[in-house]
Amino acid sequence: MRALRLTAPTVLELCEIPVPEPGPGEVLLQVGGAGLCHSDLHVREIPIAVFPLPLTLGHEVAGTVDGRPVLVHLVWGCGRCRSCVAGRDNVCTALGRQVAPASPGLGPQGGMAEYAAVPVSSLVDIEGLDPVAAAPLADAALTPYHAIAGELGRLRAGSTAVVIGVGGLGHMGVQILRAITPARVVAVDLDERKRATALEVGAHEALASDESTAARVLDLTAGQGADAVFDFTGVQATLDLAAACVAPGGALRVVGLGGGTLSYPASGDATALPWGVSVTRAYGGTRQDLSEVVALARSGAIAVHVEAVPLDEGVAAFERLHRGDVDGRLVLVP
Ligand code: NAD
Ligand code: ZN
Ligand code: ZN
Repeated sequence: MRALRLTAPTVLELCEIPVPEPGPGEVLLQVGGAGLCHSDLHVREIPIAVFPLPLTLGHEVAGTVDGRPVLVHLVWGCGRCRSCVAGRDNVCTALGRQVAPASPGLGPQGGMAEYAAVPVSSLVDIEGLDPVAAAPLADAALTPYHAIAGELGRLRAGSTAVVIGVGGLGHMGVQILRAITPARVVAVDLDERKRATALEVGAHEALASDESTAARVLDLTAGQGADAVFDFTGVQATLDLAAACVAPGGALRVVGLGGGTLSYPASGDATALPWGVSVTRAYGGTRQDLSEVVALARSGAIAVHVEAVPLDEGVAAFERLHRGDVDGRLVLVP
C-alpha cells in the first residue's frame, strides 16, 4: 500500500509498504481520509527522531471496518491507569508524567495510508457521516471541544470567549462555542482570510492579531477581559495576548504548540496575569468528548471546512499548510 512516512528526521516521503497486520485487540481500517494537522508539521520539523522511524503520519483518521464507517480516537490511552479509569484518557499516565498518551502517527503507525491497524477500543461509530469530512473531528474538533466543554460554567450568558488562531482547530473552536455556549465569540488571527472564515462560521467579532488586539478585547468587555481565552497557536505573541486579555477569574487554555512560554510573576498587582486566572495545558480530548463531537456533527451544528487532497500529493499539502495556504483542513485521501 501507499503511505506518507517520515523516513528520517525532516524527510517526508510517499512509500510503498506492506499492508499492516492487526495485532491483538486491533482491526484493519480501510482509510477514507486523514486530516493534516499543524502538529504533523511540528513533527516533521524536529531535527532528531523523537519517534521510531520510519513512521506513517496521520492522527485524524476515519474510514471503514468491514464496510462500516468509523472514526479513530486521537488518544490511545492504556485503559487501565487511574486517569483512564476515571474517564480522563486524554491524560493517560501509562507512558510517564511528561509524555502524551500514544496517538496514531505520533509513535504508533498513523493513517496517511491506504490501511491502518487500529485498536478496536479507539473506534467511534460515524454512521451517516462521510469519512473524509469526519476525519478532522478526531482532533481539529475534539481538542477544542475538550477545552471548551470544561468551561461551560464560565461561558454563560453575557460572557466573552476569545479564540486565537482560526486554522484547523480554531475554526472548529468557534463553531463549538456557538453550538454549546451563549458566549460572545471574538476570533483573532493574523490572516485576513482566516478572519473572514471565523465570521462565516459564527464569530461575532474577528480581530487582527497585533499589538492593539488586547486593548480591543478589553474595549469589548468594559475593561475586564474575556472569561475564557483559547490559544490555538501557542507562539510567544499569542500567549502574551492571551495573558493580556483574560479576565480576573477567567480561563486561559493553551492548546497550540507554537513554541512560546507562558510565565508570570507570583507577586504584585498589574502583572501579566490577573488574579484568579486558571491555566490549563490542554491535550486532545476524551472518548466521551469524541462521541459528543460526533453528535454535534451529525446534528449539523458543526462542520469541518474540508478540502480533499489525494494522498499522492501529500508532500505538497504539507508545504501548503506550512505557507498558511489552507482554509479549514486538508484531508489526504488514499
Ligand atoms: P493551523 O495551521 O491550521 O492554524 C494555525 C492558525 O494560527 C492559522 O490560522 C494562523 O494564521 C494562525 N496564527 C499564526 N500566528 C498567529 C498569531 N501570531 N496570532 C494569531 N493567529 C496566528 O494549525 P492547527 O492544525 O489548527 O493547529 C494549531 C496548533 O495547535 C498547532 O501548534 C498544533 O500543533 C496544536 N495542536 C495541539 C493539540 C493539543 O492537543 N494540545 C492538538 C492539535 C493541535
Ligand atoms: Zn493534531
Ligand atoms: Zn491510561
